[in-house]
Amino acid sequence: MTGKPELRRELIGIHNKLLACYGVQHWWPGETPFEIMVGAILTQSAAWGNVEKAITNLKSAGKLSPSAIRDMPMVDLAKMVYPSGYYNAKARKLKALAEWLGKYKDDLSRLDRSPTVDLRQELLEIYGVGPETSDAILLYVFKRPVFVIDAYTRRLFRRLGVEPPVDNYDGWQALFMDNLPHEFELFAEYHALIVKHGKDICRKSPQCTECCLSNECSGKPSATKPVHLGGPT
Ligand code: SF4
Repeated sequence: MTGKPELRRELIGIHNKLLACYGVQHWWPGETPFEIMVGAILTQSAAWGNVEKAITNLKSAGKLSPSAIRDMPMVDLAKMVYPSGYYNAKARKLKALAEWLGKYKDDLSRLDRSPTVDLRQELLEIYGVGPETSDAILLYVFKRPVFVIDAYTRRLFRRLGVEPPVDNYDGWQALFMDNLPHEFELFAEYHALIVKHGKDICRKSPQCTECCLSNECSGKPSATKPVHLGGPT
């Protein structure tokens, strides 16, 4: 952690307010590590309710395992994940994930000692796995302290006036990683709370009168002014 004490206090304060407001979120929903990985892929550009329908299809058919997905015809897999949208691409992504796991005999414990940076690189090399998906898997499956950045995170913190000097995935991730203690529990809960807040209150049209962060925020997205946190402009 290399950041600024005042920013650390601000980020912790926002987490604490969200936690007081919503309580523990018990993320990521999923009965097994593989189910969490499948959910992380299927949720790309999809509402969670539709992801659940796709996962239920796989479960009901007894196909929610790496070996079953490897062995299934692509067309059948695409039908099962149809509710989550982009079903042909997502079927291909799930196949790629299952093939990757096959290299480790479907045994995630074989990756326990793999350094996070190496494991992240491996995940990023799987077809269809980008930074957000890889980091969700690292955090919620492998319990590595990696902060997940998504659209809810960017929208909320922009509105709060907290933005990184570099507006890309790595820049946003560094904002949190450089200013918060690297604790799996903190990162897992913080991301879940941000998503909860983004879905329920700080929506595209924010419900500012119901917001527990209104004291930290102008409440008017168009009026918020980003705070430059240092580094190159
Ligand atoms: S006050 Fe409004 S814009 Fe600010 S965080 Fe809350 S809901 Fe979002």
